[in-house]
Amino acid sequence: MKKCEYCAKEISYHEMYCRDECQTKANDFYDMRDKISKIIGVFNGICVMSIGIGLFVFSFLKEVGAYMVAIPMVILGILFLLFPVPADVMIQKYKIEKSLKITRIIALILLALGIIATIVTIIAI
Ligand SMILES: [Zn+2]
Repeated sequence: MKKCEYCAKEISYHEMYCRDECQTKANDFYDMRDKISKIIGVFNGICVMSIGIGLFVFSFLKEVGAYMVAIPMVILGILFLLFPVPADVMIQKYKIEKSLKITRIIALILLALGIIATIVTIIAI
């Protein structure tokens, strides 16, 4: 069966969305993604790089390394919570609505881990 591109409800073969609301939400999502995907990509790159370097720095400068890992995790978590941009493969598999939920859950986990890592760094290192 074909599924609504937004909410993944089953639809007939000549439709793309189950109702107008889903089409509007899908269009809004793609507009939002077009506008912010470049900025998100840059932030993502910087944060992932910082985490990578931080893990290396941690072996000789524990405090600096820990912050270089923990703070980008918090930033990425907040960023993806506010602007969830799921990967296309995820959208194809789960459709937009569920992909947004999954992305937000991952963002929340990242944010929580980042906050815990920051607190641990402040207290213990
Ligand atoms: Zn729908």
